Amino acid sequence: MSTVLPGNEVSASAECPNRNAEDVLLRLPARVATLGEGMTIRRALPNQGKRMIGAWCFLDHAGPVDVSHGDGMRVGPHPHTGLQTFTWMVDGEFFHRDSLGCEQLIRPGQVNLMTAGRGISHSEESPAQRSPLLQAAQLWIALPNDKRHIAPAFEHYPELPRNQQDGVNMTLLVGEAFGEKAPTRVYSPLLGMDLRSDGIASTQIPLRPDFEYGVLVLTGSAEVAGETLLPGELLYLGQHRQTLSLHFPEATKILLIGGEPFAEGILLWWNFIGRSQAEIESYIRQWNAGKDFGEVRGYPGERLRAPELPAGMRFRGEAT
Ligand code: MN
Repeated sequence: MSTVLPGNEVSASAECPNRNAEDVLLRLPARVATLGEGMTIRRALPNQGKRMIGAWCFLDHAGPVDVSHGDGMRVGPHPHTGLQTFTWMVDGEFFHRDSLGCEQLIRPGQVNLMTAGRGISHSEESPAQRSPLLQAAQLWIALPNDKRHIAPAFEHYPELPRNQQDGVNMTLLVGEAFGEKAPTRVYSPLLGMDLRSDGIASTQIPLRPDFEYGVLVLTGSAEVAGETLLPGELLYLGQHRQTLSLHFPEATKILLIGGEPFAEGILLWWNFIGRSQAEIESYIRQWNAGKDFGEVRGYPGERLRAPELPAGMRFRGEAT
C-alpha cells in the first residue's frame, strides 16, 4: 500500500521537528487518492503538520471499498528498509508474499508485521476468493538506529488481546493496555489499539504521559477529548495526558496510536527509510539492479521500479 499515491515521499525529519507541547490538539487532514475501482486511500502520516507519532511514521487507511469485481487490490513486489510494515485488517482479505518465502492470508482482526531491517521485498494482493468489502490500515514503524540493520522477518498474529469496557470493544495491536501485552514484536515503546462501538457509547482510557498519541476514525464518528472527528483526519493529542475521553454517537471504529517521541532523524523516500542521502541512493540502485532484496515468487505481475531522486535534489536537514 506504500506505492499507490501519486508522487513520492520526500521528507527529512529535521525539516519539521516533532512537537512536544502539552495539551496539544492538532487536526491533521489526510491526503486522499482514489485509485481504479473506487479504491480510496487516505494517507494520514507522514503529514505536513506532524511527521511521526512515536515511531509510527506512515499511516494509510484503505477503503472501505467494494472489491467484488475486477482484481481488487494489487501491489507488486517492492522493497523496504529500516522499518516494519504493520497491516491491520478491518474488512476483507489480503494475500502477502515476501522474499523470505512467506505466504500469508490475512483476515479481519489479524495483524501482519513485516520487519524489513536491512532489506526485504514483498507483494500484496486481493485473493481470488474474497469478501466483497475491503478495508485496512497499513502503518510503518521506523526502526531505531541500533536495530535498523537486523535480519528481515515476517510475523502473522491471528489473535490479539481484547477487552470490553462501557460498550466499547478494544483490541490491543501493539504495546500494553488493560493489563495485557500485545504479542507483536516492536523495537521502541509504542501503542496501537482498535476501539469499536456498535452504537452510542462513552468511555475513558488511561494514557501514558510520556507517550504522544493520535486518533484516526476508520468508520462512523467520535468525540475525542471533546473534538468531533470524522474519517479523513488524524487528531494529534501530544504528550502529558493521563486519560482520554471518548464518545461514540453511533457505530464507530477508531484507531489509537501512540509512542515515545522518536528522537532520531530519519529520511524517507518511496519505501525506504535511511539516515543519509547516499544510503537512499544505494537502496534505489541496488533494488533497480535486482540486488540485495531477494525475490518474491509467485506474484502474478511485475515488480515495481524505485523512482530515482529528482536530479539535483538534496534532502534538507539530512539525518546523520
Ligand atoms: Mn510494502
